[in-house]
Amino acid sequence: MRSSAGLPPWHPDPVNGPEIHVDFAPGLRVFVPHGRRSGATPVATDGSSTLGHVVESLGVPLTEVGGLVVDGRAVAVSHVPLAGESVSVRAVPRPQRVPGAPLRFLLDVHLGTLARRLRLLGVDAAYESLDIGDPALATRSAAERRVMLSRDRGLLRRRELWAGAFVYSTRPDEQLRDVLGRFAPPLRPWSRCTACNGVLRAASKDEIAGQLEGGTRRSYDVFARCGECGRAYWRGAHHAQLEGIVGRALAEFGSEDSESSEDSEEAPLGLGSGSSGDPA
Ligand SMILES: [Zn+2]
Repeated sequence: MRSSAGLPPWHPDPVNGPEIHVDFAPGLRVFVPHGRRSGATPVATDGSSTLGHVVESLGVPLTEVGGLVVDGRAVAVSHVPLAGESVSVRAVPRPQRVPGAPLRFLLDVHLGTLARRLRLLGVDAAYESLDIGDPALATRSAAERRVMLSRDRGLLRRRELWAGAFVYSTRPDEQLRDVLGRFAPPLRPWSRCTACNGVLRAASKDEIAGQLEGGTRRSYDVFARCGECGRAYWRGAHHAQLEGIVGRALAEFGSEDSESSEDSEEAPLGLGSGSSGDPA
């Protein structure tokens, strides 16, 4: 063991705590320093911090940890590591179940495109377009039991969160695949307002006539309106890019339920091409 003689006398000596070895699952190595990405490496602990704290302090949000295994035995994040222990940090299983509430999400200010794409697929995705701050986001996650989606590790460390998930990519198409693959939410495309996350309801042409251009009024007969913000939608020629997003998501992640509902009488309405809530 190294001596602390070279350190100033008031400096806490981390080397005097129990040394453990920690190995991170490949999917978690993006969070840890380069030197810890290729297998088990030694970590000096302070003898009183929990293993959850140790893992977090190495950079891994606990929202991404699916299990902690010490010398072959599963332990809780509250486990206080002892000298010589070998720890494996596992990634969350995919798909990940979030018990206790219907699956719904809250996205931070940086994930607006992802929010609109999730809504396009009918996934309940609340989004804060203003930066209301981490405490307010965490409080909303808890109050509404929403899974917080963010690329901000500090936000994901907040204890108030109902649940959270790190979004691994900066690219919206990869972000969407990440969230759909991780949580496997039921998909009901064209059933939710992309602008505000409200649920669309069938509407007569008369009800929304004032919101339609003349050409749209003449060309379409099936209409819907957002129950929250009142925006009008109609079944029509969808923007090709939106069709592509929906088609790819259904092909890779669509459940049998969501596929069969497409052909049923209850099929949700399509977004009109005049929608300005374009998720692209
Ligand atoms: Zn709306």
